[in-house]
Amino acid sequence: MKIHEYQAKDILRQYGVALPEGCVCFSVEEAVSIAEQLGGSQWVVKAQIHAGGRGKGGGVRLAATTAEVRDHADAILGMTLVTHQTGPEGTKVKRLLVEEGVPIKDEMYVGLVVDRVSQKVVFMASSEGGTEIERVATKAPEKICKVVVEPSTGLTMDEAKFLAGAIGIPDTLHAESGKIFQALYQAFWDKDASLAEINPLILTEDSRIMALDVKINFDDNAMYRHPDLQELRDLDEEDEDEVKASKFGLNYISLDGTIGCLVNGAGLAMATMDIIKLYGASPANFLDVGGGATAEQVTEAFKIMLKNEHLKAILVNIFGGIMRCDVIAEGLVNAAKEVSLSVPLVVRLEGTNVERGREILSHSGIAVINATTMADAAEKVAAAGV
Ligand code: GDP
Ligand code: MN
Repeated sequence: MKIHEYQAKDILRQYGVALPEGCVCFSVEEAVSIAEQLGGSQWVVKAQIHAGGRGKGGGVRLAATTAEVRDHADAILGMTLVTHQTGPEGTKVKRLLVEEGVPIKDEMYVGLVVDRVSQKVVFMASSEGGTEIERVATKAPEKICKVVVEPSTGLTMDEAKFLAGAIGIPDTLHAESGKIFQALYQAFWDKDASLAEINPLILTEDSRIMALDVKINFDDNAMYRHPDLQELRDLDEEDEDEVKASKFGLNYISLDGTIGCLVNGAGLAMATMDIIKLYGASPANFLDVGGGATAEQVTEAFKIMLKNEHLKAILVNIFGGIMRCDVIAEGLVNAAKEVSLSVPLVVRLEGTNVERGREILSHSGIAVINATTMADAAEKVAAAGV
């Protein structure tokens, strides 16, 4: 689960991290009045969307007067912001963060992720922070310093100070930075985050260390432990079909191909997408209906897939283990009654109650293209979806 920058900042503020003063808003008038209340002589108007790279896309703008705050707010609010993380279609900006502007002396990067190899949290830090961090990661990975954190101790002050030194923070500020790094680690740990980043972490002209931009993602599988965090979810920022699917307990991810996939089990779903590619077509979605899908879930899955205007064919690939093939077949028949199947449907069933499943389908009157092996199914669906 992703949240907005201002929400991530609110969390870090609770952990004592130094951040610019600011407030979220939804209109130009509010933006101006926040700037007036903040006072000072420089402000930053920032698009709040769930994607990074906003600065380069024109979604982060500095203002030297409140009139400029008005102009920037007017320009950013409602704009379709395109960044390297939004994809070419961009994201419409509906919220702004207006903050006091901070004079920057140096921009650095710190971030935490779960490292699957060591099975621990890794703290990464770089002196090269700001909008070029992706370039640093690919072109000069040696400029990123890493510490694997021991879960029983957490990030120690010694490790935190070592990181501060490694990214060029002056000695006199090591203790202060160390506290910020420990706070970031603690927030990551307490909130079951999957990623937490401060980029840029800045050294100000008057020698303070501050978090200018914060990003936190959470582990969806842990969200049941954090009802307060669930309230931060902004459905406007999420894929409409994925939101709908999640309401029905379906694991669905929109993709940009033309072959709809309905599969049980994540591994089989991945293999199905691979083999569709192998036969020259491209999946329109990832969909794992799980081990115990009901006929209702299958019907909903069909409705979601059929909404996609790029859809050219559907492949149902079911291995009946816990899931019985006759249940899937019934679900398909129900779905076909409720929604008109406007594209060819290829079905491959194997496993528990497969004969019964095939029988249900053959008596249903639905135009089903039957397939035997995975390869047979992929070949048929690729041909049907041309
Ligand atoms: P991102 O591009 O989505 O990561 O957005 P950021 O919040 O990181 O902003 C991008 C860049 O804008 C930063 O790297 C800074 O260089 C600049 N910026 C953001 N806030 C301020 C500020 O208060 N003062 C100054 N001088 N620059 C800022
Ligand atoms: Mn940033």
